[in-house]
Amino acid sequence: MRIETLLLHNGCEFDQQTGASSVPIYQASTFHQFDVDNPGQYDYTRSGNPTRQALEDTIAKLEGGCRGFAFASGMAAISTVFLLLSKGDHLIVSQDVYGGTYRVLTQVLNRFGIDSTFVDTTDSEAIIKALQPNTRALYVETPSNPTLKVTDLGLVAKIAKEHKLLSIVDNTFLTPYYQQPLAHGIDIVVHSATKFLGGHSDVVAGLVAVKETSLADQIKTLQNAFGAVLGVQDSWLILRGIKTLQARLDVSTKNAGILAEWLQDHKGIDHVYYTGLPDHDGHHLQNKQASGHGAVLSFDVGSGVQAKQLLQKIRLPLVAVSLGAVESILSYPVLMSHAAMPQEVRRKHGITDGLLRFSVGLENVEDLIDDLSQALDSKVSFAVAR
Ligand SMILES: *Cc1c(COP(=O)(O)O)cnc(C)c1O
Repeated sequence: MRIETLLLHNGCEFDQQTGASSVPIYQASTFHQFDVDNPGQYDYTRSGNPTRQALEDTIAKLEGGCRGFAFASGMAAISTVFLLLSKGDHLIVSQDVYGGTYRVLTQVLNRFGIDSTFVDTTDSEAIIKALQPNTRALYVETPSNPTLKVTDLGLVAKIAKEHKLLSIVDNTFLTPYYQQPLAHGIDIVVHSATKFLGGHSDVVAGLVAVKETSLADQIKTLQNAFGAVLGVQDSWLILRGIKTLQARLDVSTKNAGILAEWLQDHKGIDHVYYTGLPDHDGHHLQNKQASGHGAVLSFDVGSGVQAKQLLQKIRLPLVAVSLGAVESILSYPVLMSHAAMPQEVRRKHGITDGLLRFSVGLENVEDLIDDLSQALDSKVSFAVAR
């Protein structure tokens, strides 16, 4: 079945026992054992729960994996996957990785003797150069945040196989609707389901899908041992969000393409980053390895003063961290997601003081354009007036 159908018909669409039209929320911490010699499938909710299981089975199906896992947040998912590594191991990581991932690698795992090197993973030679005798894993985000650099998934999988490394991809920005890393030979996919999969800015959740059973067994053990599992109500909300993923992403992505072109033609904008624009460095690769460009774009209004002016004047989008929701969300990376990064490092990665990230929602795109237009124009006149 194709992904659009799988989003709705994946074995978890109704309750097998009663026929109820959605998976029941099994609000229970423990399970009565009818026969202690033959324990049932579930014994304790940290180890397994039917509602969470439905979500875990769903993400496994959507990503083409053998098994899925649900966690209390994207960072809980990512951190649990990192626990596959041991003291003395080394990882190679995309240089503009999500801030929370950077933090857990550089402030937590380093204390346990797990070291990371951050490289531009769009450059395969840079990956090879960073290899050490103790390198065990390659961790990639594509497209990256906020400048949307595209890393070649097939190439990453190939390098990982040649050097016996675990390959891990954060697929939050595109979701399995547009990109399926396991099909390119990647071992593990991680998600912040807080974003597009949930889709309504009302749940924090993380998901993992893996290709092979031996790896699945290890992650199952870590999930149960570490215990950062997703609650049942939130599991149900993510299951519900997934049902409308196609409809939401189709509209948001179409809107993002129109907005990106409009922004590119606007005089007040220095640069627009969107993989759907033909002049984006990653445009062709993205077309090759993904079926869509997603709903996130970034643009540079020239300076921090102008960025703050625009944030003051804009009316429709939430001005907030996060992305991937029904409503548009406008973020200011310098003061939000990348605040912890020193200014020189930020500049090196193209995260200038004038850069804004727009996660495009389901509003009428003409209203978004009108809103951006009034905010940019009042910003320009302010600049001129000064
Ligand atoms: C938000 C995000 C995360 C972290 O997820 P949480 O659910 O906030 O813990 C990880 N990776 C990417 C790309 C994200 O956008």
